[in-house]
Amino acid sequence: MEIEEFEELMDMLMGKDLPDEITMQHQPQLSPKEAFSVIWFLQEHMNILPDNVEQCGICDGLFDSHCGGFIVDGTADPDDWHRSIGVTQEMLKQNDGAMFCSAAGDGQHWASVMEFPT
Ligand SMILES: [Zn+2]
Repeated sequence: MEIEEFEELMDMLMGKDLPDEITMQHQPQLSPKEAFSVIWFLQEHMNILPDNVEQCGICDGLFDSHCGGFIVDGTADPDDWHRSIGVTQEMLKQNDGAMFCSAAGDGQHWASVMEFPT
C-alpha cells in the first residue's frame, strides 16, 4: 500500500474530496489526529494496514518510517545535536515515541518542549 492511498483514506475520514467514482452520504469530518487514530487502529490492532506509515507530531502529515522521519527514542542517550540544543535524557524519556516527518519538525518539537521561539 502506497502512502498516497493512506492519504486518500485520511482525506475521506476528514471530509475532504473523494475519488471521482465514490459518493458517500455520511462522510466523516474528523480532525487530522482523529483520522490517523482510525488508521492506527487498523494498523496496530487489526493488522489490516502496514504499520510503517506514521503521522508527524508537528504538521500532521504522513510519512513512511522505513525511508525517513525522526522518532524519539526514550531509551537512548541524548546525541551531540540533542546536547547542543539542551535536550536531556529525561526529556527524551518523556517524549518517547514522538514522531516527525523531517528534521525541521524534530527541531520545532524540541523548541516547543523548551518553550523558546524557533
Ligand atoms: Zn511534519
